Amino acid sequence: MEKLKTEIEELKSRLAEAEETLNAIRSGEVDALVASGPDGDQIFTLQGAEMPYRILVEEMNQGALMLIPDGTILYANTRFSQLSKTPLEQVIGSSWQQFFPRDKHPQLETHLKTTEPVSPPEEWSLQAADGSFCPVQLSLRSMSASGVKGFSVIVTDLTGRKQSENALRKTSAELLERNEALEAFSNIVSHDMRAPLRTMQGFVAILLEEYGDKLGSEAKSYLDRIQSSANRLARLIHDVLAYTRLSGDKNEVATFDLDKMMREIVETYPNLSGPNIEIVASSAKVRGHELALGQCVSNLLGNALKFVPPGRVPCVKFWTEATNGRLRLWVQDNGIGILPKDQGRIFDVFSRVHNDAAYEGTGLGLSMVKKAVEKMGGQVGVDSELGQGSRFWIELDRA
Ligand code: ADP
Repeated sequence: MEKLKTEIEELKSRLAEAEETLNAIRSGEVDALVASGPDGDQIFTLQGAEMPYRILVEEMNQGALMLIPDGTILYANTRFSQLSKTPLEQVIGSSWQQFFPRDKHPQLETHLKTTEPVSPPEEWSLQAADGSFCPVQLSLRSMSASGVKGFSVIVTDLTGRKQSENALRKTSAELLERNEALEAFSNIVSHDMRAPLRTMQGFVAILLEEYGDKLGSEAKSYLDRIQSSANRLARLIHDVLAYTRLSGDKNEVATFDLDKMMREIVETYPNLSGPNIEIVASSAKVRGHELALGQCVSNLLGNALKFVPPGRVPCVKFWTEATNGRLRLWVQDNGIGILPKDQGRIFDVFSRVHNDAAYEGTGLGLSMVKKAVEKMGGQVGVDSELGQGSRFWIELDRA
């Protein structure tokens, strides 16, 4: 009797254990069981364990296929059926080649011979049941599941991406066209303004030269003002033309010697020599548009010589510095300097900080530098302290 009671108790506890396991399976807490038997431990995977993966593959935005090595489709997800506009039951069991144009079949066969994962970068055309084509990208991986050798294929639909690319291409073509029209317009306007301006400058000069003595001081001062305004307008036209020419510059990027270029530019300033100028030699070569960069260096040098307080002898130093595969060209002066709050805006078009008559200008020089350097993929900047001088830099790719 006692023995029977013990057996009942033992059976009850085993039943409770079995119920507990069943509940865990029902609630999804368990997705695999290890059962010990005469042949050792065996793992039983429950069907529910595959559910998350199935859901993932079914819900994903890409088409998914499983092929055997001859290209027969063993499995396809709903997305592939949508992309190919073919009912799933017709997809499964068919050959994957039927979804691609005939001339691509040899390439598809080559991919099925490889054991390495392949993601051909090119675009493929997936042929749908209604004869339409969808641009796709493929990614293949050989695999072996439940003893079956085969391939998994992920098919990414490129339609959306292509539409955005086309829209972007169209917008940039339109922008380019507008920009070119604007450049042509400002070129014509600037050129056409030059001729009457030259006439004005010429006649004012004649008046001052030939009749200056006969004119009263007031009349002479009016003529002086006309002359300086005409000169200012001439400078503006020159700078606007240089600025637009810069954006129209379609020169190829080339490798050149920065040192040589700086020396050549300095030579164009006849009064600049000896202690006024120092060029620290560097053998480094840069990549850029030589003409445009020459214009930039010339603008920086012109400013370095111009923005100096009265009575101070200008002193300019050029040197280069290598940083992360790039080359930085420095132009340092001993001039009036720029307040930190103004250092950002001086590169904007027509932006001038020092407007006094002593420092004439159009406010286009530095914007030209910025535009040209950025076109070459470089950067510009300045370090400066009021009254202590400035250090402008241009950074470009090293050749
Ligand atoms: P511009 O020289 O024709 O006035 P820029 O575009 O070359 O025009 O320069 C913009 C402004 O930046 C100048 O008006 C000046 O106020 C300031 N600037 C430029 N270079 C220097 C410099 N080396 N030192 C001090 N200020 C400068």
